Amino acid sequence: PGDIIELHTGEKIPADARIIEEINLETQESSLTGESTPVEKNAGSVKEAGLGDQKNMVFSGTIITKGRGLAAVVRTGMDTEIGKIARMIEEAEEELTPLQKKMDQLGKFLAIGVIIICAIVFVFGIMKNLPIPTMFKMSVSLAVAIIPEGLPAIVTIGLALGVQKMVRRHALIRRLPSVETLGSTTVICTDKTGTLTCNEMTVKKIYLNEDVIEVSGEGYSTEGSFSKGMGTDLKLLLEIGALCNDSAIKNKKITGDPTEVALLVSAEKASMTKEELESIHPRIYEVPFSSERKFMTTLHKGDGKNVAYCKGAADVILKLCNKVHVNSKLKPLGEHKKKEILKVNEKFASEALRVLGFAYRYIEKDEMSEKDEKDFIFVGLQAMMDPPRKEVKDAISKCKKAGIRVIMITGDHKLTAMAIAKEIGIEGLAMTGEEIDKTENLSDIIEEVAIYARVSPEHKVKIVDALKSKGEIVAMTGDGINDAPALKKADMGISMGITGTDVAKEASSMILTDDNFASIVNAVEEGRTIYDNIKKSFRYLLSGNLGGLLVVFIGIIIAPQWLPLIAAQILWINLLMDGFPALALGVEPAEPDVMKRSPIKPKERIVSNNELLQMIVIGVTIMLATLFIFYKYEPGKNLAYAQTMAFSTIVMARMFNAMNSKSEYSSVFKVGWFSNRQLILAIMSSISLQMIAVYALNGLFGTVPLTLFDWILIMAVSSSVLVVGEIYKLAAGRIMKKK
Ligand code: ATP
Repeated sequence: PGDIIELHTGEKIPADARIIEEINLETQESSLTGESTPVEKNAGSVKEAGLGDQKNMVFSGTIITKGRGLAAVVRTGMDTEIGKIARMIEEAEEELTPLQKKMDQLGKFLAIGVIIICAIVFVFGIMKNLPIPTMFKMSVSLAVAIIPEGLPAIVTIGLALGVQKMVRRHALIRRLPSVETLGSTTVICTDKTGTLTCNEMTVKKIYLNEDVIEVSGEGYSTEGSFSKGMGTDLKLLLEIGALCNDSAIKNKKITGDPTEVALLVSAEKASMTKEELESIHPRIYEVPFSSERKFMTTLHKGDGKNVAYCKGAADVILKLCNKVHVNSKLKPLGEHKKKEILKVNEKFASEALRVLGFAYRYIEKDEMSEKDEKDFIFVGLQAMMDPPRKEVKDAISKCKKAGIRVIMITGDHKLTAMAIAKEIGIEGLAMTGEEIDKTENLSDIIEEVAIYARVSPEHKVKIVDALKSKGEIVAMTGDGINDAPALKKADMGISMGITGTDVAKEASSMILTDDNFASIVNAVEEGRTIYDNIKKSFRYLLSGNLGGLLVVFIGIIIAPQWLPLIAAQILWINLLMDGFPALALGVEPAEPDVMKRSPIKPKERIVSNNELLQMIVIGVTIMLATLFIFYKYEPGKNLAYAQTMAFSTIVMARMFNAMNSKSEYSSVFKVGWFSNRQLILAIMSSISLQMIAVYALNGLFGTVPLTLFDWILIMAVSSSVLVVGEIYKLAAGRIMKKK
């Protein structure tokens, strides 16, 4: 309390605060009052009033829909109005991801299956006159052996670690299920300015007095010059740019929107600073910029009369003007002249420049409204360059290979958008917001269009709807308050961490901490990898467990008096030794082809036919290897010895199977034996545990110490699992190619 906070459009208010100063301030307080229309706020005093009528207060958790201002904090945290409500409501329940839900279903299915199998084994054993307690223990441990108890933990840990990795790659996940949506994304709709481009604008060309002036200098450096001097006319143009401007350069510190900063920089190149200009013509009123309006106006004190300065998208500004300022004289602005200026605008735009128009008019009043934004005098254009981010071209070609379409959506001019799109490799038709409005059925042509220019936020919703109607999984970026509906509507709303408003962030499922398009593509890659890895752990656990089940089941059928594994051994394998490799598979590095496959289909079954067959083949091989060793060691003579051999064989077979599980289709020779250090560590720890069971805990596990020769045999036989796995992949790969 006591702090002064700045209020800007699109921000969420951090505390209950009393307004000190405001311009056109409106907030949306539905979270508190249920009233969804925005309320006007003002700095005056209010007699005792209900929450909805406290016009001089802004409340924590509500959002600013318009205007700006200053306010003094009076209450924070749980003392605020929203805090009082929060106290009454307990924590929201946790959301499960689609994968977690599918796992749950599968878990239930397995549980029922297990009960049936265990009952069969139990009855079968009794029929063969095995003692009831042994069979009971056996059935229970079998149940433990089949159910992958570790799986829910592995899924959660896999998702959590993946999400952490994404943060390091500048993508912050707000809702866990979105990780999977990322993996399924088929279309990314992205803003241009700042996401595909660097958002470091530099004015390169000026159109004034029917002539073009080149401006030198790079970035935000104020060093640079004009190819022609035009005296007071150039000064007027630069002054409008500097004063109709909310950004600032103070002591080399830059704050504000890059488009506006570029205008301050171009003015400084003519030795004009905003501070000096403002001391002569202070701002007294303004009609702010919005993405819908695409321009803004500020009102300044002049000599005698007040003057309104206006800047914005060139075509929009021209519509507001009826005169043009040429060589310090005023001329009428007819259709012919407008066309001439628009031609220059288009020429600049086709050079990938962002073009703004500038105009002024005198006004008697001290205030103005949108009604007064007409009859302006057109002065000129400033065209700025915003180079594409260098990593974007590669990111877009990566998307193409990954079966993901990239669509550019921008408020900028169609030709600017097309020029930038060409540079970075986005191909397809271009369409403007106006054309969207005229199109009856957008979904008919949506597959063709890759560039949307001069759009407003509401067009984004139409675009998402049309894409979704075609069955696409849509990721959509946004930063402004009005982007929120589109962000919510998209399967994956992505907001900007640096330039985004709180409202956009709130509506999104993911925040880009560096506003960079390439980070979306990295996040998609991570999303796919996480999904892949969880499935790897899954394949590893289920095929191994199936092997264990078959060993006991077939073992009992062949020779009921000799159980190949005892209950303690089964528990040991399942509860301890399997966990490490399964966890480690969850952090496998991305497979080289992860961005060369098509997106994951959301309805896809968690276990594909190929995976199911693969698991059965591996399970059977584990069973054959283990039983082969068991009977070779003549259980009739020394049961403990044969059981120890079988126990160690099944463990080693599962370790080899961890290598199989590194990829569904690729050979471990291609993926790399040592590509995942954690997996190697996990396998080593599991083998050490096995050594302890064989050499130290003989009483507990009914084991006997093995010789070196025994181990050589175990390794030779259990490695068959890897050989079979490799042959299977080779064959499956061939069949896939033929298809
Ligand atoms: P994107 O949607 O790719 O981020 P954008 O930044 O061009 O593109 P908007 O911010 O909606 O989208 O801007 C729309 C148009 O309004 C711009 O092309 C520009 O002509 C104009 N404009 C942008 N910023 C300002 C500003 N601060 N003042 C006046 N006009 C502006």
